[in-house]
Amino acid sequence: MLLGVHCSVSGGLEHSFEEAKTLGIDTFQVFTRNQRQWKAKPISEEEKKLFADAWAKNPQIKVIFSHASYLINLASADTELRHKSIAAFTEEVIRCTELGLAYTVLHPGAAGEHSEEDAMNRIADSLKKIVAETSGSKVKILLENTAGQGSHVGYKFEHIRNIMDLTGSDRIGTCFDTCHAFAAGYNISTEEGFHKTWHDFSHIIGMEKLCAIHLNDSKGELGSRIDRHDHIGQGKIGKLAFGMMMKKFTHIPKVIETDADNNMDPVNLNVLNELAG
Ligand SMILES: [Zn+2]
Ligand SMILES: [Zn+2]
Repeated sequence: MLLGVHCSVSGGLEHSFEEAKTLGIDTFQVFTRNQRQWKAKPISEEEKKLFADAWAKNPQIKVIFSHASYLINLASADTELRHKSIAAFTEEVIRCTELGLAYTVLHPGAAGEHSEEDAMNRIADSLKKIVAETSGSKVKILLENTAGQGSHVGYKFEHIRNIMDLTGSDRIGTCFDTCHAFAAGYNISTEEGFHKTWHDFSHIIGMEKLCAIHLNDSKGELGSRIDRHDHIGQGKIGKLAFGMMMKKFTHIPKVIETDADNNMDPVNLNVLNELAG
């Protein structure tokens, strides 16, 4: 079914497989590093082996991908911050390559005081460098659509398309987040709005670019541009959309990024499994 969660790596990267096994999932997302710090130790041979061994013992896991650090801003006009971001994201692609992950998900970036055009140009220039720096890697970089909070770009499908075109690499794909799309004004909560959204997506970005999905309900209203995830069916999006997502995208890895406290991951997974029929 390619349905999973964001798994914790506390205690070691290989610990993610224990959580995945307990939940009975076949795909998951991880942070390969502390996402709130710039510095990350390279992955040791020992860590690589532990991860590969754990995966070999869990062949039911089909796809694993990472989410890049939230500190990274490839759009930054501050040269030092942008260079730090390029270095950190290059390292992330290398880490994913070493672990055998398929994708790494990235928030495109925030424009700050500058125009969205400038931001997208800087993101594409940065991505070109990163792709060139990691030319031997098969890891795909997935630009995630955003809620458009603050000065973040990526809240319109046209932004994602533009960055892809400017970068000009077949290693750039996209990750679709349901909460972000809804908060950005794509009304997936109704049948009509759902079909319109995917019609637009297929014409502007292209279905072949869709590599991963984040299934999150939204605490924010339609078009609120607030990035606050809610449990599946408990937010403003509602169950209808998630049922349609589950049926339409059986072949794409889908993970939830909802608050896992109070053992809510199994609850959300059950809701999605029931909606899938
Ligand atoms: Zn997301
Ligand atoms: Zn979010």
